[in-house]
Amino acid sequence: MKSKPRYQNLELQPIAGQWRKGSAERDLNVIDPFTGELLLSLPMASREDLDQTYRTAQTAQVEWAAMGPTARGDIMRRAVDIFDDRKEEILDWLIRESGSTRIKAEVEWASARAITLESAGLPGRAHGRILPSDVPGKESRVYRAPLGVVGVISPWNFPLHLSARSVSPALALGNAVVIKPASDTPITGGLLLARIFEEAGLPQGVLSVLVGAGSDIGDAFVEHPVPSFISFTGSTPVGRNIGRLASGGTHLKRVALELGGNSPFVVLADADVEAAVNAAVVGKFLHQGQICMAINRIIVEAPLVEEFTQRFVARVEALPYGDPRLPGTVVGPVINAKQLAGLKKKVSKAQQEGAEMLMGGEPQGNVMPPHVFGNVTADMEIAREEIFGPLVGIQSARDAEHALELCNSSEYGLSSAVFTRDTSRGVQFAQRIRAGMTHINDMPVNDEANAPFGGEKNSGLGRFNGDWAIEEFTSDQWVTVQHAPRQYPF
Ligand code: NAD
Repeated sequence: MKSKPRYQNLELQPIAGQWRKGSAERDLNVIDPFTGELLLSLPMASREDLDQTYRTAQTAQVEWAAMGPTARGDIMRRAVDIFDDRKEEILDWLIRESGSTRIKAEVEWASARAITLESAGLPGRAHGRILPSDVPGKESRVYRAPLGVVGVISPWNFPLHLSARSVSPALALGNAVVIKPASDTPITGGLLLARIFEEAGLPQGVLSVLVGAGSDIGDAFVEHPVPSFISFTGSTPVGRNIGRLASGGTHLKRVALELGGNSPFVVLADADVEAAVNAAVVGKFLHQGQICMAINRIIVEAPLVEEFTQRFVARVEALPYGDPRLPGTVVGPVINAKQLAGLKKKVSKAQQEGAEMLMGGEPQGNVMPPHVFGNVTADMEIAREEIFGPLVGIQSARDAEHALELCNSSEYGLSSAVFTRDTSRGVQFAQRIRAGMTHINDMPVNDEANAPFGGEKNSGLGRFNGDWAIEEFTSDQWVTVQHAPRQYPF
């Protein structure tokens, strides 16, 4: 089959139903994190663009929601076909714009495709209910309706998927969507999706993208009267602020907050060490550790610490790092120099606090070689804070109870993992971890389009995927019909 010409004019944004340049009179430079090459210079959107976009979306949503479930589902299925036809183009942008290795780009493409396919089935599943009523002659109905206009704010680490996991279900369920992608990843975080859905036949104005500075349009994006729901994925401090703005302004609105993590990876004394090491290597170093679910703390029951550490370090030493375009590369660049500087500080702090560096090395450009620390304790910064980079510490637990205590001694509660040969024991252990997700005998990095994704504690509010997305992106209206005259008390 002949491949399609690549999308052109990516400096244009779908603003208020038209592809045009942002009018903020400031350009955003999109840089390849590995080569430093300027990929695109993009005029940013202004507050005026934002206002026009939300108002256009509000009008476009009405007709879109009136389309039947099959018609909306068909557009989702066509978008899936375009994901397939344009796979190489999408992977190429993920590699160049977000520093993804090819392995990670494939994972991200597959996740975004899967949630779009799952979303194709949502319109037909978003049903209401008839409830029994205590009032004689009353019929009690619950109608399920789209929310209207949804604002989506996404981060730079899995930009395509983390936008798609809100955009696809929200659209399928009859909402209009406006995306504000992260400044490092405007193409993979928004503009590509808008092109894909346009090509799939989505009417103009139903999906918009605003690439603008957080300082310029960030607060207005959340506080604007039109959107009734803000789906935010990003760091806990920014998410907290979004929650405050959404609840404290003139226009109250719902929020979904998918925030930071500090995933524990627990190896109990009866674990298969080889399997645990294999999972830990991928769960830590996929996308250079820049994943909210990435392993942040390795907690090993004392009898296995030495063996696990030796085997883990041996595997990590062999990981190819460097150019993300080479198919064998496992650890590519971190997103930018600021992120790298933060990671270097974390390395110095770990050493100051007494952690033993078992593996390290000087960064080349934005590529930081994998770092492993031993003798880490729960009070050290690398155990307490989200790392979001290719470094990890190993902690020793006296016994399984101590391992559990260490797991739960975090402000976060996103994902987690436990290795044991006794799966019943693993399930009991899992149920005592305060986290939205726990995987037994696997890494904590897991996301499936039909399974609930989300966190507890400071990792956020709400759940994505499958039927949980129906709850997030629709609302219930109670409507009753009094068929026979009602007997009132006075
Ligand atoms: P970030 O919080 O700095 O930025 C996220 C998004 O918010 C970006 O689009 C950014 O432009 C925008 N933003 C920043 N300030 C804003 C403001 N005042 N108003 C409106 N928008 C604003 O996060 P990041 O550095 O892009 O991403 C990394 C973080 O995201 C990590 O903490 C990671 O754990 C978290 N994350 C969470 C999940 C999850 O599903 N829980 C997934 C991926 C990443």
